[in-house]
Amino acid sequence: MLDRSTIWPYEDGEPGEFYYQRYAHPAGVEAERKLGELDGGRALLFPSGSGAATALLLAFLEPGKTVALAQDAYYGTSVLIRMLESWGLQLVEFDQTGAPPEDADLVWVESPSNPLLTVPDLDAAVAHPAPTVVDATASTPVYLRPLERGADFVLHSATKFLGGHHDVLLGAVVCRSDEDYERLKTLRGRLGIVAAPDPAALLSRSLETLGVRMERHTANATEIARRLDAHPQVEEVRYPGFGGLLSFDVAGGGEEAQRVETSVRVIKNATSLGGTRSVLETRARWEGDRVPENLVRLSVGLEPVDETWDDLAQALGD
Ligand code: PLP
Repeated sequence: MLDRSTIWPYEDGEPGEFYYQRYAHPAGVEAERKLGELDGGRALLFPSGSGAATALLLAFLEPGKTVALAQDAYYGTSVLIRMLESWGLQLVEFDQTGAPPEDADLVWVESPSNPLLTVPDLDAAVAHPAPTVVDATASTPVYLRPLERGADFVLHSATKFLGGHHDVLLGAVVCRSDEDYERLKTLRGRLGIVAAPDPAALLSRSLETLGVRMERHTANATEIARRLDAHPQVEEVRYPGFGGLLSFDVAGGGEEAQRVETSVRVIKNATSLGGTRSVLETRARWEGDRVPENLVRLSVGLEPVDETWDDLAQALGD
């Protein structure tokens, strides 16, 4: 049974492993153990991917320090770092397919990037003397284990494929070193940016099926990308060859892309990604000119592939 206690009795007059929920709770520790095993490091949960990013920035940087961020990383990450500029952080953006700028205290890449689906030059990123963060939200440990490649931290929006059912808002940082793990854990307990037991238990449930879900996401998305590529109404398809996330540009511009997103019947016109059900949306509404105005992001779900394709084809106008 899920233990939602906020307190546990002391053992022989002393705090045991669990004594106050802000520092640790059984469901959180269990999910962290599972995710840590998958990524080959030590995991810490946070109430969202953005909460995880905030804690990471505050734990390992200080005023005057510079973050080199992949220019096409999830737009919210750059918005977050810009908000922290008033606390003294600095942001430089770079093309993650090449080397990061020399003058950086933290290197932050995303593999693959959302929604342009570029893959970073990880060797170049980890060769930089500063610590490296890899946001592996869209890869999951099934396709990428950045700590084995020399990265210091993996960041996940567990809201996406790790949670996998559009019913969990969660984030995680997986640390390579014990020292970094302890530092981040201490800061988490003090800041109170902590995940509650219920979403942590849902994540444990979801991790049981991560492997089979990702296999099916990949099989479906590979086929959808192939069919989109051959469609006359589609100008460009971006898909890295694994995972469930892709994006495509609709011929005819932004208005035509909006017509497509509002014409789907089975696929949901909604934000986010990584769930069992397919969702799509134009991204310019959020990101402005960071992305083409006719770009549609599609998170391919686990439905039979013809069901998803038939819906897309009718929305595109066959
Ligand atoms: N990183 C990536 C790649 C994302 O796509 C997102 C959310 O879309 C985040 C981080 C932020 O995660 P959350 O929405 O769980 O705060």
